[in-house]
Amino acid sequence: MGGLIRVAIIGAGVVGASISRVLSMFEDFEVHLIEKEADVGWGVSKANTGIIHAGYDDEPDLFPLRAKLCAEGNLIWHEWVKDLDIPIRWCGSLVLAFNSEGEKILEELLDRGIRNGVPSLEIIDREKLKMLEPSSSKNATAALWAPTAGQISPWDAVAALVENSIANGVKLHLSTEVRGIKIVEGRISGLETNKSFLEVDCVINAAGLYADKISEMAGVGGYYIKPKKGEYLIFDKDAEPKVSRIIFPTPTPISKGVVVTTTTDGNLMIGPNAQDLPQNLREDKSNTYDGLKFIWESASNLVNKLPPRNKVIRFFAGLRPEPSGGDFIIRDYDEVFGFIEASGMRSPGLTSAPAVAQMILDALKAKFDLNPKLKAGWNRYRRRIKRFSEMTFEERIKAVNENPGYGRIICVDELVAEAEIVEAIRRGATTIDGIKFRTRACMGTCQGSSCTYKVAVILARELNVPLWSVSLKGPGTEIGIGDVKALFKEKNKLEGENQG
Ligand SMILES: Cc1cc2nc3c(=O)[nH]c(=O)nc-3n(C[C@H](O)[C@H](O)[C@H](O)COP(=O)(O)OP(=O)(O)OC[C@H]3O[C@@H](n4cnc5c(N)ncnc54)[C@H](O)[C@@H]3O)c2cc1C
Repeated sequence: MGGLIRVAIIGAGVVGASISRVLSMFEDFEVHLIEKEADVGWGVSKANTGIIHAGYDDEPDLFPLRAKLCAEGNLIWHEWVKDLDIPIRWCGSLVLAFNSEGEKILEELLDRGIRNGVPSLEIIDREKLKMLEPSSSKNATAALWAPTAGQISPWDAVAALVENSIANGVKLHLSTEVRGIKIVEGRISGLETNKSFLEVDCVINAAGLYADKISEMAGVGGYYIKPKKGEYLIFDKDAEPKVSRIIFPTPTPISKGVVVTTTTDGNLMIGPNAQDLPQNLREDKSNTYDGLKFIWESASNLVNKLPPRNKVIRFFAGLRPEPSGGDFIIRDYDEVFGFIEASGMRSPGLTSAPAVAQMILDALKAKFDLNPKLKAGWNRYRRRIKRFSEMTFEERIKAVNENPGYGRIICVDELVAEAEIVEAIRRGATTIDGIKFRTRACMGTCQGSSCTYKVAVILARELNVPLWSVSLKGPGTEIGIGDVKALFKEKNKLEGENQG
């Protein structure tokens, strides 16, 4: 097939964004990244443990894609985080065993890891464990040490991938919900969305929790997605003791278990549990007393001591998109030419995303009989927003002299300057959550009670919109602060127009 291939990727999570970055390297594709939310990375990719797994968890005979792509993805992330300036701690992970039964499971994990091609795995004794992680439980008798595992900031990762994709020509369509797929004579012809019809030759389904619904729109699939909830507790930055490695229990057939880890921003985090939900509860991110209690008790078994409970600043939940078959779904269909799945991306989907993207490229090459040509000006690099909190004293003076906005601190807990918020807006943030995840404003001890208003004022000023219309996360979540009367004036005006 000759000419430009128009590709629509449904879903700007870590999987869709990784695919868009890989496709942006080639001259052969016109890439559209389509997202129903007002910003990128707000689906499953927003609330997870953020671990770049080493790759020993999945049995290749049972889940060949998970096993292969996790180990490959880990390798690729080692390069991508450098290219894209994504916060990461390559701190390694430890699976703790507490008795001979647990030690047997460590042997199984080691054997599986070796079969999956994971380098440098080792079973270590109590002495070495104490040396690698002094906070680990005294009751642990041995551990599996995986030095190649890392802790990433998942929302920074998605923002970075999307910024880099856009810089290389990808068109991002936010607040654009796919509602139908047009197929003419067995070939993809375009997408019906809440905004307009988009003509494309190929659709890549990376819609996370809703991927089965997208497949149904194309008349294919034959699988379903079930949400599996995972809850977390996160501690204040000054809460001690923290861990320097990622600590797991020995896994069960249901989950990898509750983890104790320290985020890239320096907060101790514990979770998740694993709770199966019915198919219709794909938005249920509520926390439960039982869930949080279970997490606390499970985490307490992994370390000598947790910080006091009053150091918890937030609890939250994420939903895993569990596919009915268990493994990732990466495939195309003979009956609908141009429809390709990148779905069922449960854990370790974050780790695997870059390898999934390479596989999708291979699928496109085969389907469209392509030998894609690298873009001459493709830029592999992207730099993150300069953070006042991470600067030395000299760097701060220089930054303030160059841009006085670095001298106005908006979020005192996280030391976020106005200049960072303005830069986040320039890069695409239009909501308070968009600012929060790009800069960490509102993520500190007070959880936004002192800076949300200041962030809203800056958003209103930079986007030139009324203050009341600034929203937490898009239409329907306007915070209605500031000139609240304007809200009613606008409402009355609209009602008057409708009646007239
Ligand atoms: C509790 C938990 C812990 C996890 N921990 C880890 C971990 O430590 N390491 C790891 O590797 N993996 C982990 N995972 C898995 C990982 O988070 C996911 O595999 C990954 O984020 C999935 O990314 P995605 O892009 O497929 O989905 P998403 O991030 O959900 O992206 C899909 C996007 O599609 C959009 N969309 C849906 N329908 C439509 C439509 N009709 N039109 C337009 N857009 C649409 C959604 O809004 C969404 O933004 C965890 C998951 C959970 C929930």
